[in-house]
Amino acid sequence: MCTKLFHEVEDEVTTLLSDLIRINTTNPPGNETPAAKFLAKTLEEEGLECELLKSSKGRGNIIARIKGDGKKPNLLLLSHLDVVPATPKEWSVDPFSGLVKEGYVWGRGALDCKSLVAIETIVMKLLARKEVKLKGDVIFAATADEEMGGEVGVGWLVETHPEKIRADYVINEGNTLPSIHINGKHIFTVQTAEKGIVWMKIKAHGRPGHGSCPGLADNAVLRMAEVARRLGTHRSKIKVAPTVKHMIKELSKERGTIARLLSSLMTKPFSADLVLDQMAKKEKGIAEYLRASMRTTIAPTMVHGGIKENIIPSGCEGVFDCRILPGQTKETLLNEVKEVLKDIENLEFEIIKASEPSESPFDTALYRQVEETLKEFLPGCSVVPFMMTGGTDSRYLRRLGSVCYGFQPLKTDMPMDELLKMIHGVDERISVENLVFGTSVLCRLVERFMT
Ligand SMILES: [Zn+2]
Repeated sequence: MCTKLFHEVEDEVTTLLSDLIRINTTNPPGNETPAAKFLAKTLEEEGLECELLKSSKGRGNIIARIKGDGKKPNLLLLSHLDVVPATPKEWSVDPFSGLVKEGYVWGRGALDCKSLVAIETIVMKLLARKEVKLKGDVIFAATADEEMGGEVGVGWLVETHPEKIRADYVINEGNTLPSIHINGKHIFTVQTAEKGIVWMKIKAHGRPGHGSCPGLADNAVLRMAEVARRLGTHRSKIKVAPTVKHMIKELSKERGTIARLLSSLMTKPFSADLVLDQMAKKEKGIAEYLRASMRTTIAPTMVHGGIKENIIPSGCEGVFDCRILPGQTKETLLNEVKEVLKDIENLEFEIIKASEPSESPFDTALYRQVEETLKEFLPGCSVVPFMMTGGTDSRYLRRLGSVCYGFQPLKTDMPMDELLKMIHGVDERISVENLVFGTSVLCRLVERFMT
């Protein structure tokens, strides 16, 4: 047992998470205000002043601030209150019960991301309780709508009240991964970058006709099939962002086959796919993650066309989930897609939704403090920066100029694929041990960094 752990907060953080899970904030519709009010009450017990800011009815965001001595830096502890839907009959427990069983807290949001809400709340309460003298301000924000893009949560706050959440540094969700275990060593990740999203609709037009005489028609379904095949198998040029480069470099220092393959990835980025194909035979998860973090990806996800069995339709449309790297834009993506399809006629392109990619530097005082703090708890562990192939609210704050890190340390207490299946999946849960670990590390980190 690590003596540095704050075992005294075990009951408090466990109960807080259970209570939060019981407040159903499934988005849509979100309805985060009851959870925001509940947090305000618990923070006010410690003498902290809270502000409830609603973008519309039911969509509450809660903000609290502990003032420092007016020096730099300021730090924002960010998390989101909403969760994705859960289908109770698929779960082995009620997903909104917040049940504590077999050392775990069960329920929707246990990992994504009500555990971080609970941990950051307890950190604020501990700072107030211990009357810690801070250099800069520590701000707490638990917000609405992350799971639907954050437009009425952090997006709205950045637009309407930027002064309330602007900070030099932000700690947010974004690395809900257990530490990677290589040769018995814990390797923790810090999310320093995330890809951008471009959802694109492509309409293929044709000439309708009778299904019994296909030669007379120009079949839009066939045109769309070719579009989907080409885009779905297209491999964009490899581009290695600083975060990914550093991550590969750090991991390649370990021993073993994967590390050896990683170092050839460093030296031969242009034959990356060959190396990754080899790696996929041993570690498919890591290989495909790396492939997706080194290039733009385009996945066909929806196809609609036709109204009747015997009518060749005049149109067929497909939706493509594209993910772009830091430095790329929806315009560069659209140009690339058009280039791949340049000899296919009668296509129409529409961008349905887009969010930009973002990256923060990892050569910072906070990153070094994360490394130092983790080593205090687990000597010999190491830390690598990490690019997320999905997105979080950090992108809004990176746009405001904040250095944002996705950081909630989890020790491996179940296989990685089992944990990844629970996020947005069934039987989501977090161990009480990881709640205590996360609270202890974050509290120590904030104390060290802000005093
Ligand atoms: Zn989340």
